[in-house]
Amino acid sequence: MTGSIIHYQLPLKHAFTLGNGTSRTHTPISIIKLSYNGCFGMGEAAMPPYLGENHQTATEFFQLIDFNRLLPYPFQFEKIHDYLDQLKSGNYAIKAAIDIALHDLWGKLENAPVNQLLQTNHLLTPITAGTIGISPLSELPRKVDEILQAGFLKIKVKLGGEHDIATVKTIRKLTHLPMSADVNQGWTDLHQAIDYTAQLAELGVVMLEQPFSKEQLQLHGLLKEVSPLPVFADESCQQLADLEKIAPYFDGVNIKLMKCGGLWKAQQIVGRAKTLGLKAMLGCMTETSCATLAASTIAPLFDFVDIDGPWLLKEQPFESPNIQLGRIENNLLPGLGLTEK
Ligand code: MG
Repeated sequence: MTGSIIHYQLPLKHAFTLGNGTSRTHTPISIIKLSYNGCFGMGEAAMPPYLGENHQTATEFFQLIDFNRLLPYPFQFEKIHDYLDQLKSGNYAIKAAIDIALHDLWGKLENAPVNQLLQTNHLLTPITAGTIGISPLSELPRKVDEILQAGFLKIKVKLGGEHDIATVKTIRKLTHLPMSADVNQGWTDLHQAIDYTAQLAELGVVMLEQPFSKEQLQLHGLLKEVSPLPVFADESCQQLADLEKIAPYFDGVNIKLMKCGGLWKAQQIVGRAKTLGLKAMLGCMTETSCATLAASTIAPLFDFVDIDGPWLLKEQPFESPNIQLGRIENNLLPGLGLTEK
């Protein structure tokens, strides 16, 4: 087996502002290619700054890999992840890229779509949400229109800005689509959060993600007790090992390929989350069709799905997936069904 890696700084459609005050206009992405037996698979590492990975760390990790250790075929994903974790801890986005490329390669070697190999039923996929970042109220009509034009049937609104309730009220005047809200650790006051969640529920918001700082588990637990909306962990839970710790304080968890290291690990986490009584959401970073099509193969295992990464980018090296009835369409091509431009 051989491997290669290419780096991109991809421009975002809109500057992405979060509740923690950060804003960015581009996102670093590394695309890898693994070749074996006349076929190749492609994988992606999408690396928002908070993960601590970048092009340099991705290259450094990639250069450590002995590609023959990813064999034999059929791929032994548990052993492969053990090998990658032994090489170096952390670096989950580049590990996700390898895991995704191996799944794409597996599908091509078997001439089958990956979801068929994973035995996930595409018909059970929840609708995916289109995201609106923190914005001035005057920009909301244009952003809602973009989401409706793209074919999304659900909206995820980023909160933690200066006018959260006014934002949701403005969107509600423009559309009746269901909404979820992601605060990205932007709230600090429990009483205000209790007031806000009651208002958000009345406005038709169906779930709330990471209202407080990721370390503030108790505060999340207190809000969970009285919130009419289910409270989900995102930044508070990266890995399988975090799940047991956060489970008492949340109703659900947002699992992302880039946080946990890929499809194999995401399946382990969603299984464990369910046995702990947690609901599960499949999330994404600002990422291309490569990671999105990979995530869509396991989307049927989740209660909520938010994999709109390609629609957050102004440019990307792949064709965008289609949205059918609010879901990422399964194009039934071998592997992930990814098409380079
Ligand atoms: Mg989130």
